[in-house]
Amino acid sequence: MTATKSAAIGVSVSLITMVLYLYGPLEVGAAEQYSPTQPRARDFYAPNSEELGADEMRLIACGTGMPTARPKQAASCWILELGNGDKFIFDIGTGSAERISAMQIPYNYLDKVFLSHLHTDHFGDLDALFVGGALAGRQKPLRVWGPKGDTPERGTKYALDHLYKALTWDLDGRKGITDPRGYQAFEVTEFDYNGINEIIYQENGVTIRSIPAIHALDGPVSFILEWNGLKFVFGGDTYPNQWYAKYAKDADLAIHECFVAVPDLITKFKFTPQSALAVGTQIHTSPEAFGKMMSIIEPRMAVAYHFFKDFDTTGPINDRIRTIYEGPLSLAEDYMVWNITKENIRVRMAIYDEDVWPPPATEEPQLPDSSLRIPYSEFIAGGKYDMTDVIQPTYDEINKEYGLNEKQDD
Ligand SMILES: [Zn+2]
Ligand SMILES: [Zn+2]
Repeated sequence: MTATKSAAIGVSVSLITMVLYLYGPLEVGAAEQYSPTQPRARDFYAPNSEELGADEMRLIACGTGMPTARPKQAASCWILELGNGDKFIFDIGTGSAERISAMQIPYNYLDKVFLSHLHTDHFGDLDALFVGGALAGRQKPLRVWGPKGDTPERGTKYALDHLYKALTWDLDGRKGITDPRGYQAFEVTEFDYNGINEIIYQENGVTIRSIPAIHALDGPVSFILEWNGLKFVFGGDTYPNQWYAKYAKDADLAIHECFVAVPDLITKFKFTPQSALAVGTQIHTSPEAFGKMMSIIEPRMAVAYHFFKDFDTTGPINDRIRTIYEGPLSLAEDYMVWNITKENIRVRMAIYDEDVWPPPATEEPQLPDSSLRIPYSEFIAGGKYDMTDVIQPTYDEINKEYGLNEKQDD
């Protein structure tokens, strides 16, 4: 175990060395270097503590793992922030809403979600962002872009219309109680998954195109975002495909899946050898195939995800990729952060506050129309135990503090 651990450490040290070699040393103020009272430059990212440069992109991994989310890794989710103020979420897999909250970004800014496909590990926390985000300050509808299916029932609009219906009890219970604006139905934009590098979004100097992916059924896609001379590629699940090879070429940063290695699928994930081979190399992209794809497209930074990144899997995944690809590489894990400019790509980890509360709303809250509240039945309301005497002091306290005249329910 010790040998394996030091091998893993060796990998990360050599990665850091490589990053330093390629992109130069991190900025350290020489004058502060030895001061007992002045701060030194940070080598981690603290959410809500840094200005984003006008020419800069910041990418944050909020999910990098598998459909079976685990404490260390939620499923696929990426926040991309641009220096013009735009923010995009690419995929929102199971467990990722919690990571999004850790980034302390006002939810009004997180209203644009792009789905690569409709596996739960790529959209399973959409309901959590939808409801939790509205409750914590999103005062506008959630906009979602995703592919059509080969039938209407396999498309994004069908999935989200039905997800919204599934939330009927949740949403009805909030009517007349909370600011209603964030709870309006999803604004879905469906596009043809067959489109090859076709524009699906163009606003505010940002262009997003889609290319087809080959994964499980017809329908999945990958995305290419261009802004301010920078090119960002988000690859959803896929067998390596010719469209990615052509249109992701020369990206500043290219994300592509790199699945759990077949031996680990068998011994750790308990797959049969047959399904490990099928899933790990034919439905998805094996580490070696990831390496081959990156050696073709030659990005300034290649990002691998969709594997469980442990002390004893990181080295072997790295070795498998390195049999083919020698360029800049990040083996992604949750809370990894990339700052991208034309001159530099800086890779760090985020250090987050586990006790995070909602960020501020960016607009004034709107009081709901209380007449829309759906009442309890007489039977259920009649079951209330009389607590008015112990609750009234809270009403008195808040009414006094905020100059209100609120009254308890009848
Ligand atoms: Zn998938
Ligand atoms: Zn997946």
